Amino acid sequence: MSEGYSMWAEIALSRLTANFQSLNRAAGPDEVLAVAKANAYGHGVLACAPALMAAGARWLGVTSVEEALAVRAVCPTARVLVMAGPWRGEAAAMVEHGLTPSVWEPFHLEELGREARRQGLAKGSVPVHLEVDTGMARQGVRGLAALGERLAQLESTPALRIEGVMTHFSSPDELDSPETELQLSVLAEALKAIGARGHRPELVSAGNSATLVSGLGVERLRSLAHLHGARLMLRPGLALYGYPVRFMPEQVAQPELLPVLSWKARVLSLRTLEPGEPSGYNATFRAARPTRLALLRVGYADGLSRLLSNRGQVLVRGQRAPIAGRISMDQTMVDVTEIPGVEIGDEAILIGQQGEERITAYELADLSGTIPYEVLCGISARVPRVVVE
Ligand SMILES: *Cc1c(COP(=O)(O)O)cnc(C)c1O
Repeated sequence: MSEGYSMWAEIALSRLTANFQSLNRAAGPDEVLAVAKANAYGHGVLACAPALMAAGARWLGVTSVEEALAVRAVCPTARVLVMAGPWRGEAAAMVEHGLTPSVWEPFHLEELGREARRQGLAKGSVPVHLEVDTGMARQGVRGLAALGERLAQLESTPALRIEGVMTHFSSPDELDSPETELQLSVLAEALKAIGARGHRPELVSAGNSATLVSGLGVERLRSLAHLHGARLMLRPGLALYGYPVRFMPEQVAQPELLPVLSWKARVLSLRTLEPGEPSGYNATFRAARPTRLALLRVGYADGLSRLLSNRGQVLVRGQRAPIAGRISMDQTMVDVTEIPGVEIGDEAILIGQQGEERITAYELADLSGTIPYEVLCGISARVPRVVVE
């Protein structure tokens, strides 16, 4: 099925399903919102969102209305949380397509309120997730005074109903960090203030992959939700796509997760350099010995970071082949001198497994000074996503 491509990404939906189910089991009684923003972390949302629903997800999380409408087209029954709130003019589409906004700015409520009045919507018929800034200082209502004002504004539009109270932690991968402690106490205060005005949110939405996978802190979040008669909703993203959290203490038993995406390219040409001969822009690679180089049709325009020039490796015939010279926009050379029998048409693995060897998005991230999130969602639109079972 991938014979026709010279470079492509394979998306293993059975692994996505298994990962969702492992995480859902680990979450026990809590709701799990599957984060599918940024084209499902580069995996292709049109295939991944329905697979997540079939695996048992009820909620999907995206960033924008554009992303939400793409999800809605393939998942007519999903609850879809739009985590950046409605931009001006987007409230009508949100209501029409049953999308659920996170809200915190006055203009979010003005937009939704205007639409609710225009359509004469019934009391409580527009659920919103009120976001509270508990210390991330990025989005959400900041401070109890502002929270009071926003609640008053919300109460002036009876169609709006606080279904969820949402926050985001700045350091979920650092256990016992003072930031998380502080954020939990700010969340507790906010929930108290929201409850005191008679709101009864059904969901307290907090925690990402690191929170869910570590399980640490989940008990406290859950108790906090239950104290207010709500359920905890966890929002994993990266873990769904098969990347566990790093640097967890040994006592933490992480659920088993399998990488969903493999990135592959075929050897398209081969050449042999004499000692001293260069390869690529600015001759940053020079053969130290008779050197066999293989051409791959993948470059930084596909999302292979140029920072991996002369640093990264790929797998060919189950062995590691170092990237030789500068990665170009569309091409990369790899040194296959030590790998016997390489031929045109051989598969090279940029991310994935071949024989005993494996390259993960963590490896590429480490070598290019970033995180696996950026590696995965940086795989560009021109890379065909091929769904495999
Ligand atoms: C991206 C995102 C998540 C998911 O984070 P992961 O680290 O990928 O699990 C959860 N909540 C919000 C608000 C996000 O933006």
